[in-house]
Amino acid sequence: MKKEQIPGEDARRRRVKRLKKGIVLSVLVWMLLSAGLGVVLFYRVNALSRQLADTQDNLHQLLEAMSRTGQDTVSQPVRTKNHLEASIAGAEGLEGLADSLTAEREVPQAAHKVYLTFDDGPSKYTEDILDILDEYDVKATFFVLGKEDGHSVEMLREIARRGHTIGMHSYSHKYADIYQSVEDFSADFYRIYSYILENTGIQSTCYRFPGGSSNTVSDLDMRIFADFLEEREVVFYDWNISSGDAGSTLLDVDTLVENATADISKHGTSIILMHDAASRPTTVEALPEIIENILAMEDTVILPITEDTTPIQHIRRSEGGN
Ligand code: ZN
Repeated sequence: MKKEQIPGEDARRRRVKRLKKGIVLSVLVWMLLSAGLGVVLFYRVNALSRQLADTQDNLHQLLEAMSRTGQDTVSQPVRTKNHLEASIAGAEGLEGLADSLTAEREVPQAAHKVYLTFDDGPSKYTEDILDILDEYDVKATFFVLGKEDGHSVEMLREIARRGHTIGMHSYSHKYADIYQSVEDFSADFYRIYSYILENTGIQSTCYRFPGGSSNTVSDLDMRIFADFLEEREVVFYDWNISSGDAGSTLLDVDTLVENATADISKHGTSIILMHDAASRPTTVEALPEIIENILAMEDTVILPITEDTTPIQHIRRSEGGN
């Protein structure tokens, strides 16, 4: 018989019991919450990795579509800018490069705008040209070819890294192949476009026709190729000043400087044709003097080609039938 309970003992026991219950309940609730949170986080992480995978897939699909030859690319405009930008953001290591190039450039106003352009690179002289441009703190435009060797790719990236404009000058530079048909031109176009995009993250928007738009190699009317570019919002640039460095004889420095600079004061926009090519050493030798002469001219600036540049085009596009 345990009649004699200590007063308050019962109440104490109940308190302890309640306390225990409370602790067990809190632990249970805490465990449930943790489990719930775990599930939520698991799904979030899953969703994010799916998004990442999608982005990478998109980039690959896009690049494949672009390098595919044939009719579907002909009718497939490069109007996937947002898509591409999103994809590029996901492409490792290229964001900085792409960003630095899409950054707004201030366009200096001057009576004479001069654009130094180098065709046919990268070459063994690319680095020398880049160093000279750096020395004078001027930006230029390189219309490059599709050269896949390690040095060329490294130089292509270096051109971008140093803030110059990269334009397309065809992948193969084989006039007879490129100008055979719009299909051939398209195939080559997407190869050089992808080559630049894959290696620098840049969507090039300017083109220089091999031989210029007024070349006489093409049996077809060059306007069909000009229309092809226009449909893709790519602008082609010829030149109104030639350094003359592409001829069969190697010109000396004085002649190159004279050719490149003599007529600048006559033009509001001067696009100077030069070459970044292994067979053109005197162009590199003449470059410092060419730049110094231009910088000494009144109300004259040297600029890289951008969307603001007035194009110089030897042929008219077919609109209006002329
Ligand atoms: Zn060329």
